[in-house]
Amino acid sequence: MGTQAQPISASAAVVRQVGGAFGIESVEVAAPRADEVRVRIVATGMCHTDLVARDGFPVPMPIVLGHEGAGVVESVGSAVTRIKPGDHVVLSFDYCAECPSCKTQSPAYCYNFLAHNFSGIRPVDASSPLSQSGATIHGNFFGQSSFSTYAIAHERNTVKIDKGLPLELLGPLGCGIQTGAGAVVNSLGLKRGESLTIFGGGAVGLSALLGARAVEAGMVIVMEPNESRRALALELGATHVVNPKEEADVLAKIKELSGGGVRHALDTTGIPAVVGTAVETMLPNGMLGLVAVPPPDAMLPANMMSMLVRGVGVKYITEGDADPQAFIPRMIGWFQAGKFPFDRLITKFPFAQINEAAKASETGAAIKPVLLF
Ligand SMILES: [Zn+2]
Ligand SMILES: [Zn+2]
Repeated sequence: MGTQAQPISASAAVVRQVGGAFGIESVEVAAPRADEVRVRIVATGMCHTDLVARDGFPVPMPIVLGHEGAGVVESVGSAVTRIKPGDHVVLSFDYCAECPSCKTQSPAYCYNFLAHNFSGIRPVDASSPLSQSGATIHGNFFGQSSFSTYAIAHERNTVKIDKGLPLELLGPLGCGIQTGAGAVVNSLGLKRGESLTIFGGGAVGLSALLGARAVEAGMVIVMEPNESRRALALELGATHVVNPKEEADVLAKIKELSGGGVRHALDTTGIPAVVGTAVETMLPNGMLGLVAVPPPDAMLPANMMSMLVRGVGVKYITEGDADPQAFIPRMIGWFQAGKFPFDRLITKFPFAQINEAAKASETGAAIKPVLLF
């Protein structure tokens, strides 16, 4: 008999208090329920949202975070049909599959998104798949809690991938890279030859750049104060980079570079003043996408008359409007065709150095940390 129906022990990074460090502890991982899969995690990306959650976004403690997991399926529940033990998988965000958004292939706007991704428990009965000597460890963050050697996910947020692919690189496709690339390709619908300005050249902004290049966009301007990130943006195909700290008038600079304005724009900073500028950069019928977590009391500083006369819009975007079962394979296809080198954003860390990885993310030393198990 295998381990399929048994709980197994795992090493997991547990956060016990708001703002506290990740502490690697031994936990027990339950056997998968009917619609669940248990995955031996090979690598997990670290996303800004993990650090927001660690530092006070309302999640229950103690909790195991991590939501860009990739690994090998160890066992599956009795009702799982699409996934089998031994499959290589990428884990993405969870959703209810029942609400109007989920039923129309918009799981990123699941009416129950918070319960499925931030409650740390199974919404159906408030249970957790993780425990420690009988005490609950919250273990359903984004339907995976993948800062752990084993994780319980659900069939619906588990995407099967080809075994020939580099599994240790693919976890970030499940959130951060999907968020940036999807925002440009799915939400803004940027087309071949069209222009775009991206505000902020971090993991999401540079993923947006990769998405723009994958669909053969025209001019792509990246606004980013960090010099090494601007250099990387140029290597990844930005046609122009601008240091906003060195420009007296950012709006005038974008209009000058683009000959009057860009088709669409994407803000990854969440800074209201930047958003206010971004709204003014677009040509008629342009759309400004917003993806960052804003300050809780932030308001849009947009001039409505200016928006009226150009017919421009603003859209908040979750998870790049992606259906992961379709969009992750699409990004992998671009990667295999050499059009989507997202591996250039990744810095690898051993799992034991998870706190160092978090620090590197916060200081900007690493754009997309990936923890290797
Ligand atoms: Zn739903
Ligand atoms: Zn994320």
